[in-house]
Amino acid sequence: MTTDNPVFTDAPSNVLIVGGGIIGLNCAWYLNQAGCRVTVVDKGKIGAACSHGNCGLICPSHVLPLTEPGAFKEAFKALFSTHSPFRIRPRLDVHLWSWMWHFLRRCNQRSMMSAAHGIQAILTSATQEYEQLLSLPELSGLWQRKGLLYVYHSHRALEAYSKTNQLLAEHFHEPAKRLTAEETLQVEPALKPSIAGAWYYEHDTHIRPDRLISKLRQYLVATGVRFVEDNSVQALDGTGKVARTVVTDCGVLEADAFVFAAGTWTPTLKELLGCRVPIEAGKGYSITMPRPVQCPSIPLIFPQHRVVATPFEDGYRLGSIMEFSGLDDSLPEERLELLRSGASHYLLEPTSQPELERWHGWRPMTYDSLPAIDRCPRWNNVWVAAGHNMLGLTMAPATGKLISEMVMGKMPHIDPTPYKLNRFC
Ligand SMILES: Cc1cc2nc3c(=O)[nH]c(=O)nc-3n(C[C@H](O)[C@H](O)[C@H](O)COP(=O)(O)OP(=O)(O)OC[C@H]3O[C@@H](n4cnc5c(N)ncnc54)[C@H](O)[C@@H]3O)c2cc1C
Repeated sequence: MTTDNPVFTDAPSNVLIVGGGIIGLNCAWYLNQAGCRVTVVDKGKIGAACSHGNCGLICPSHVLPLTEPGAFKEAFKALFSTHSPFRIRPRLDVHLWSWMWHFLRRCNQRSMMSAAHGIQAILTSATQEYEQLLSLPELSGLWQRKGLLYVYHSHRALEAYSKTNQLLAEHFHEPAKRLTAEETLQVEPALKPSIAGAWYYEHDTHIRPDRLISKLRQYLVATGVRFVEDNSVQALDGTGKVARTVVTDCGVLEADAFVFAAGTWTPTLKELLGCRVPIEAGKGYSITMPRPVQCPSIPLIFPQHRVVATPFEDGYRLGSIMEFSGLDDSLPEERLELLRSGASHYLLEPTSQPELERWHGWRPMTYDSLPAIDRCPRWNNVWVAAGHNMLGLTMAPATGKLISEMVMGKMPHIDPTPYKLNRFC
């Protein structure tokens, strides 16, 4: 591994981060720790985009990419389905079709395994970093270590997961414990007795994402990080290969180095970055409610209906769905109903009233399920940290640490090769 930083003999002291989601905030945290003055600029409110209403799972067990061999068939079906939790809205968009083509090409065992190793490296690092981050007095008490249950409705689907479990155990040391229906009900009495059983990942954890964002922001403000909201970055100016300023809606901001953590919006910054990062919006939904009387105590995934139920200390959330419909910001009732009806197959009390928040977010999806964490070829002092797919909350601290190391010209703690931008060329 090399430090891959040809320009700075002195590390930058003033860094500007574009995007105040969970990735931008973690970049701010690690750069601030490294001694930089950090400013975070967001076109909206800090943490109000995809990082706000997600399912809150911190799941090192999610090693496999979406490009599993069978995903080809699923993607084809999704083109013609309007009622399925996985949906592709066909439209004349050359970027979507190119993305799909690259995605489908990777739906084979070899590509899946190669991506999975890149995913696991960042998940493992992130888990270790979370241990430290969340032990700070300012952030303590936020996460809950209850594990994660994959609950199945049919015996056949429960059994089919054995193959995945074997692969995870053999190649990634991430085995789950198989539970019978009776054992599952003992672990989680909020489930219906009609379930077939479950696979239990004991080491996964969860956190309420909006609480984490708000506490992290408070902590960063107290340590000198500056936040600028409602200010869209429109251009990047500089001399030769060195960027000097960003032009925003409200004026010009200077820095020695720039990190673009703009999530799903990254492709819209193509001209400015000098490269296109092929990210498609993977729209998901969630509904947040008060805790039902028979509230689950452990986060639950219902893979057959593609719904996640996450209990928080002060609430309860149903979430999921994957829709490729561009930056469409509608919130159709029938999509939310998929969450409620999906959960009703498994839970004694799947919903509660009132629904406090109905939400959608756009996951920044790359076609190989790996994030893009790298320096832009056009500039010597501009980095991208985006494309965290379905795992941005989980991967955020490792991304922040890696970006800080790259910006400061230090040796990276994990091999950055799988996250390089040149894989898209
Ligand atoms: C339903 C659902 C459930 C999920 N569940 C989980 C889960 O359980 N665990 C997990 O790990 N992940 C989960 N995810 C994925 C996770 O939410 C995302 O991967 C993560 O939030 C991405 O973070 P981000 O900071 O890259 O993007 P965002 O949070 O979207 O932040 C990007 C920010 O950049 C700003 N921006 C963009 N362009 C500009 C510009 N030009 N100028 C200034 N600012 C700009 C935007 O305003 C935005 O605030 C889920 C996602 C969904 C939708």
